[in-house]
Amino acid sequence: EKVVFTFGGGGAEGDRSMKQLLGGKGANLAEMSSIGLPVPAGFTISTEACHYYSSHGGIWPRNLKQSVKDGIHFIEEKMGTRFGDSEHPLLISVRSGAAVSMPGMMDTVLNLGLNDYTVEALMRHTNNERFAYDSYRRFIDMFGCVVMGISHEKFEHALEDLKETQGVEHDTELDTESLKELVDRYKAVYRKATGYMFPDDPYEQLEKAVNAVFESWDSDRAVKYRRINHITGLLGTGVNVQAMVYGNMGDDCATGVCFTRNPSTGENRFYGEFLLNAQGEDVVAGIRTPQDIKALQNVMPDPYRELVGIGKKLEKHYGNMQDIEFTIQKGTLYILQTRNGKRTGHAAIRIASDMVAEGLVEKRHAVKSLVEPGHLDQLLHPQIDQKNSNGNAVIGQGLPASPGAAVGKVVFTSEEAEQAVIDGTPVILVRIETSPEDVGGMSAAEGILTSRGGMTSHAAVVARGWGKPCVAGCGDIIINYENNTFTNGEITIHEGEWISIDGARGTVYQGKKDVVKPELDEDYHTFMTWVDEIRKMRVRTNADTPEDSKRALEFGAEGIGLCRTEHMFFGEERIKAIRKMIVSNSLEERKEALEKLLPYQKKDFTEIFRVMKGFPVTIRLLDPPLHEFLPDEPEEIKKVAGELGIRHSEFAEKVRLLREFNPMLGHRGCRLGISYPEITEMQTRAILGAAIELKKEKIKVIPEIMVPLIGTPQEFRSQKLVINNTAADLFEETGESVEYKVGTMIEIPRAALVADQIARDAEFFSFGTNDLTQMTFGYSRDDAAKFLGEYIKEGILQQDPFQVLDTEGVGQLIEMGTRLGRETKPELKVGICGEHGGEPSSVSFCYEHGLDYVSCSPFRVPVARLAAAQATL
Ligand code: PEP
Ligand code: MG
Repeated sequence: EKVVFTFGGGGAEGDRSMKQLLGGKGANLAEMSSIGLPVPAGFTISTEACHYYSSHGGIWPRNLKQSVKDGIHFIEEKMGTRFGDSEHPLLISVRSGAAVSMPGMMDTVLNLGLNDYTVEALMRHTNNERFAYDSYRRFIDMFGCVVMGISHEKFEHALEDLKETQGVEHDTELDTESLKELVDRYKAVYRKATGYMFPDDPYEQLEKAVNAVFESWDSDRAVKYRRINHITGLLGTGVNVQAMVYGNMGDDCATGVCFTRNPSTGENRFYGEFLLNAQGEDVVAGIRTPQDIKALQNVMPDPYRELVGIGKKLEKHYGNMQDIEFTIQKGTLYILQTRNGKRTGHAAIRIASDMVAEGLVEKRHAVKSLVEPGHLDQLLHPQIDQKNSNGNAVIGQGLPASPGAAVGKVVFTSEEAEQAVIDGTPVILVRIETSPEDVGGMSAAEGILTSRGGMTSHAAVVARGWGKPCVAGCGDIIINYENNTFTNGEITIHEGEWISIDGARGTVYQGKKDVVKPELDEDYHTFMTWVDEIRKMRVRTNADTPEDSKRALEFGAEGIGLCRTEHMFFGEERIKAIRKMIVSNSLEERKEALEKLLPYQKKDFTEIFRVMKGFPVTIRLLDPPLHEFLPDEPEEIKKVAGELGIRHSEFAEKVRLLREFNPMLGHRGCRLGISYPEITEMQTRAILGAAIELKKEKIKVIPEIMVPLIGTPQEFRSQKLVINNTAADLFEETGESVEYKVGTMIEIPRAALVADQIARDAEFFSFGTNDLTQMTFGYSRDDAAKFLGEYIKEGILQQDPFQVLDTEGVGQLIEMGTRLGRETKPELKVGICGEHGGEPSSVSFCYEHGLDYVSCSPFRVPVARLAAAQATL
């Protein structure tokens, strides 16, 4: 069996389809070489050889030794050098590389082949004595650590000792003589640690290095990594052996990095930097300032032209903008690496539309591979300007709760935020957590920062709905409301000081960062039409106001999947009415209070229906526990009692009685509608009354009335009866009628388990994956941030399940609920309206499991459209 695959000199024995056998790195090197790119010659030892080695107690397959020799001869011939030669030595790098990129395996060994003779040749060729000996001592260190497992500290000690005797502080101050001395000391370290002399035979060096790569496959770290990430079915790692090339052998040498198009603007122009007579690390380390790639044209016109041509070829081959690393050794160009280039959202859109226009790629390819959902997020929100990142201190890191950048002065209360806006001052509202009472201030603020709460906490959900930047659950900071300060233990920020937040990354900065405004240009709109041509699943929005609905429509929403009616109760008059309802002592009192709310609700629905122009609108009946509408601070309780005109003590007692130990599992959802059917009646009247209004305006709406939080078919049936009876009464009273649907949320695990029974009565399902995740894991959605960070760090969870759908567990309930529901009712419409409806991998899961639509906050609608289109490709 063939165990070694060569590449270089314009050909290769492998290609990019051979990842299983050659590993990802090996397959890509072969691919580049086979399309004629000048990659330094080399070979890959197959993963099968690694498998043989580990399953035969550390023995090489019979033909490996000779194949490696032949491989080396192949490189020698291509490069015009010889392994171990003292005139023109071949020096090589050795790297591991499995089919899946995998930290924990052996790193890189550079400059293998160096010994006391070849180092002299390297010195002559680079004309740089210091460089040659520095490379040599680094090689002994690297070989000793990586291949032989000697602790790096031992080499560090030797280095420190020498610096001390020489009286210098930095490595760079050591002269060549000292470096030569260091080489000897390193060899002594090696000998002492291993009991052997440092091998000066290059073939021995190579054999040891290959064995080390093989063995790293079974290292504890690598095994653990594969177990945690469920990586199975791989044979082993490949070993890549490749000729070293040098950009520092004189003024006909250079090294650099380039992009085939501008990665920040997307402009179709070669872009990049290089350094003359330098090695790759110099570019990265920032020791010297690189020159613009255009200057290369003057110094080395031929290699430059070749490089530009290669860029074009690679773009066409990979169908994507490329990020290329190159080295020019004595006038000869080598490509060391190419990969799809990272880019800004703006550039991604431009590159996609340009590449389609240039005929380089098809629209489908552009949608699938050239724009990531995260790129759209960048386009829709202001961003921290990374170009002028003035070095403001990072104060803390929290959850990326709602993307976008915001800059403002710190305030700690909603009242101050609202006042500041009147004064024209931008502010960031900083709260331990937010509650519905804070919405005024949240809306006024530029951004929101909380120290507690997760991805589905009040602050996160509301901010995302408005497209307002929010960092939630930033446990790094302690907020002191009394002193009007917060601190991370080192920096203390007072009220009125400037901070900046980056809601896409969860970062909080001291001071004012520069921000760039979002813009949606022609390219964006064109791209999104391609997205919609390909997409099959519908995308709706979660919206509770006409403004949000309008914005969502502009972002391409095709209906409302969740209108949370409780959000409509927070105006001054309304909250009073609902509080009156809550504290009522009799049915009559309650009905009277509800009577006051009815016109508000009806008006809201009428406007939303009007904006949504006949698109489907799902309205959910009241869901949260009632105490959320009541104040909890003693001062506030007193004030509100006065406003409601009831005795303070009586009101305080009501508030106390309504408090629950586990409000999320308490008196909420359909349980409220069952206890107080008059609430359901009022909401039904408002919804259907609004639809009747619109019928008069010749706008047809089919409202979808949604019952929250059911766990049994009986709960649903009881609410459906109330709705139907109310509808019948209303139609009789008005002499008008409209079509409507009654469905339910599936957000309690039990509902998913008995979905076949529920579907007998329900006309649609919508998975509320926020509650479903909460109840499936048993993690409180408002408290989980306390430990989820640790869980993720420890590898107990891979992701925050409130952010990214847990397809393995919660996903089973979605799959089962959908399947059982449709067994009863094949035409059952099924969607999702939890926060996962706007998260790309979750959207993809929903498509694969046959959901009809996803619903998400307005600003995530474009992201969901793209994710839904990509899921089909
Ligand atoms: C849900 O639980 O997923 C849902 C959409 O409802 P809410 O977030 O309002 O509880
Ligand atoms: Mg819910």
